[in-house]
Amino acid sequence: MENLDRLNEIRQQVAACQKCKLSVTRNRSVPGEGPVTSQVMFIGEGPGFHENEQGKPFVGQAGMFLDELLNHAGLKRSEVFITNVVKCRPPGNRDPEPEELTACRAYLEEQMRIIDSPVIVTLGRFSMAHFLIDGKISNIHGKPVTINGKLIVPMYHPAAALHQPALKSVLIEDFKRLPMIIERGLRDLAEKTKIVSQEKQLEETEDKSSEAKQLSLF
Ligand code: URA
Ligand code: SF4
Repeated sequence: MENLDRLNEIRQQVAACQKCKLSVTRNRSVPGEGPVTSQVMFIGEGPGFHENEQGKPFVGQAGMFLDELLNHAGLKRSEVFITNVVKCRPPGNRDPEPEELTACRAYLEEQMRIIDSPVIVTLGRFSMAHFLIDGKISNIHGKPVTINGKLIVPMYHPAAALHQPALKSVLIEDFKRLPMIIERGLRDLAEKTKIVSQEKQLEETEDKSSEAKQLSLF
């Protein structure tokens, strides 16, 4: 199946999903959106009021600030994939519960497999926790880590800046640095891959030469 079809299939599954109790209170599920070829994925927490009305991610106040942040990073919303760890709105915007996160996990995993972007930006602690990144967000925001060959960049949630104005400038500065973070991170990743493949080649050559030696014994 084509990747676009696979992505659309998830959209349909999420629309009909009843795997957790958020299905009872949601108006519209929010699978996420963006090109299947996106090089960067942004992962938030869960739909809020407006997202639940429109079926689209980050269209409320936090979304307006995310648009501004993307602008600072020189990224167009139309070229990135934006989604959440839970696809249905937790009532009153409460935190998603562990069983809801677990129930919804497979959809995000499948979206990441299909899109396979080299860079993932997590927005907020629930998204960061999906990747089991240790540490406090106040220490590790804007500091990328490599997990399973992907560059994961933890960021504060844009909504956090709406409650704590001091975080606004932190988020803006982190997003301004995002192009540099991505460039450096991908360069390091490519370098590591090269070293690994060189080591492999070396091992193979050594294997061959010891095989040759062994053979020459006969
Ligand atoms: N906050 C989120 O985490 N996701 C949205 O889609 C909107 C607000
Ligand atoms: Fe299904 Fe996820 Fe919605 Fe729960 S939040 S009903 S698991 S799509």
